[in-house]
Amino acid sequence: MAETFGFQAEITQLLDLIINTFYSNKEIFLRELISNSSDALDKIRYAALTDPTQLDTEKELFVRITPDKASKTLTIRDSGIGMTKADLVNNLGTIAKSGTKAFMEALSSGADISMIGQFGVGFYSAYLVADKVTVITKHNDDEQYIWESSAGGTFTITPDTVNPSLGRGTQMILHMKEDQLDYLEEKRIKDIVKKHSEFISYPIQLVTTKEVEKEVEDEDESVEDGDKAKIEEVEDEENKKDKKKKTVKENVTEQVELNKTKPLWTRNPQDISAEEYGAFYKSLTNDWEDHLAVKHFSVEGQLEFKAILFIPKRAPFDLFESKKKRNNIKLYVRRVFIMDDCEDLIPEYLNFIKGIVDSEDLPLNISRETLQQNKILKVIRKNLVKKALEMISDIAEDKDNFAKFYEAFGKNLKLGIHEDSQNRTKLAEFLRFHSTKSGDEQTSLKDYITRMPEHQKNIYYLTGESLASTRDSPFLEIFKKKGFEVLLMVDPIDEYATTQLKEFDDKKLVCVSKDGLELEETDEEKQTREDDTKAFEDLTGTMKEILGDRVEKVAISNRIADSPCVLVTGQFGWSANMERIMKAQALRDSSMSSYMMSKKTLEINPNNAIIRELKTKVQADAADKAVRDLVVLLYETALLTSGFSLDAPVDFAQRIHSMIALGLSIDADEVAEPAAADESGDVPPPLETAGASSMEEVD
Ligand code: ADP
Ligand code: MG
Repeated sequence: MAETFGFQAEITQLLDLIINTFYSNKEIFLRELISNSSDALDKIRYAALTDPTQLDTEKELFVRITPDKASKTLTIRDSGIGMTKADLVNNLGTIAKSGTKAFMEALSSGADISMIGQFGVGFYSAYLVADKVTVITKHNDDEQYIWESSAGGTFTITPDTVNPSLGRGTQMILHMKEDQLDYLEEKRIKDIVKKHSEFISYPIQLVTTKEVEKEVEDEDESVEDGDKAKIEEVEDEENKKDKKKKTVKENVTEQVELNKTKPLWTRNPQDISAEEYGAFYKSLTNDWEDHLAVKHFSVEGQLEFKAILFIPKRAPFDLFESKKKRNNIKLYVRRVFIMDDCEDLIPEYLNFIKGIVDSEDLPLNISRETLQQNKILKVIRKNLVKKALEMISDIAEDKDNFAKFYEAFGKNLKLGIHEDSQNRTKLAEFLRFHSTKSGDEQTSLKDYITRMPEHQKNIYYLTGESLASTRDSPFLEIFKKKGFEVLLMVDPIDEYATTQLKEFDDKKLVCVSKDGLELEETDEEKQTREDDTKAFEDLTGTMKEILGDRVEKVAISNRIADSPCVLVTGQFGWSANMERIMKAQALRDSSMSSYMMSKKTLEINPNNAIIRELKTKVQADAADKAVRDLVVLLYETALLTSGFSLDAPVDFAQRIHSMIALGLSIDADEVAEPAAADESGDVPPPLETAGASSMEEVD
């Protein structure tokens, strides 16, 4: 009857780790199992909102913990949704979650086992304390089944035909390891539940069995009414009363509720301690660390709701995983849990905010579909965003705290700039970037502005792959000279954010590597540039002719002070950095890229010695082959220094090699390909021929 299944390989590995790792804080297993029960209860309660008959199989919603010292088992039973046979197979062993591997990786880099819940594999923590786990479960849509495993790579599933008495829900029986019997002690269980599961919104009952002494009628006397009794009576008249009543030991089961606290959000914030918020946060999120910030508030008037929002200290391992559920705000209606994945409750960029919302106005049986259109929900969402931004503002008051926050969630803020036009200005205040003047720290746009010289009109920035590659970029030359600070944006998402942001505090954000850089030029500077444009007409014309389609045009630059030339992209096309990012994306649409990969302008520096000399050479002989080679080489070098990649690195290398040969005063032919060398006979012939000839000599 029992069917045997193999655990998915990573799960086997995980179980091995859980069983064999020395780890003392094993108590968290109970938190994980209770949290699963609570999830299952949430699910059946939600299902019952639209179909109340779902509850008929078991009306009471509860979690019940029963320790049994005689059989050395700890049983956790819930009247939640239960699991069908398919659920058992899939959820408890055969389908790998991304968290399985991620958790093992985290462990090997020093993470703690108690973090298990965050990776979505909390169930397996049962094996911290048990060497065998039996899961009996009944779902409304299926029969009752028994799942069982002592790890070791396999588990079994058996239909529970003998005693299918569950009604609905799940019963986890942990067969405790010999050295973990401590967890069967009433006191221990009470402490753990208090510590980790106090805020579970279903009653957690503890069933205890006590031996009590009780006076009872002596059964011998009353039952056996025969001769023997009579004789005894005669013999021992004195003891007669004692004999009729005697004390016996009896087992009495008691049930106590371990979590009687009111939902935290319904209480007055003034009466709630930091520890209570911390404990609530942890039970809500499975986090092992306290939160970074909390906001507990209520909205009254037209519409009423209460909410508690938290910002965690770190980003979860799967923050930007697209398959992940969209948000972490639990929605309640008048204290009844409705759902924890309501997409419209908070915008995606704030998906790192955790918490709960309890509405007085939404209908209890609201469906996902109608929720989307719901006006009340829109108002709630607006308020949540507002409060979330307030929370971030609060964090920003402490520089160190904010730095930590920004490291974890800076990307979210940038995503917000991209997505949330209404709050763009507010979000922009939170942005921090490295700059040519910020040293190791990052600067806000506001601080940048305070450092702007009076005649600087715009906020300048350069995007690139890394700080190292942007710090010495030729695009920065004129800005260094003028004393203008340039923001160095090295996060891919910056490209997207800046295209939306466009300006801050009435100052335009200007990319220094793009066309149409207006730079705060004096009339004099403008005049010189016009003069130069005329004077270099021959050169720019010839260069354009040599480079052909590779560039849109060749022009005199106002942005380089030292380098001979740079490559500038169109104002509305991709920057060099964006081109790099898009090339790295496998499935990009290539028709889009040819459109967005804007034509480049080669800007030359009229004051650079190389350019000046080139001008003279071109005037002497525009068709000279050396000149043509040098122009291409200059272009290719500019590609690199401007942040692009080479399309034909081998051609480039060949040009460089001939330059090196020139530098070493070697005849250019000597470094050319073997084929050419073979003909000249100056260099040793290729290997094969050499081999053949030496053979001949031996012969
Ligand atoms: P998570 O809770 O993060 O999904 P777990 O490893 O704790 O990960 O649980 C795995 C899955 O097993 C759950 O998602 C759920 O589908 C199922 N499960 C575990 N415990 C129960 C339970 N008591 N009742 C119903 N389903 C459960
Ligand atoms: Mg879980």
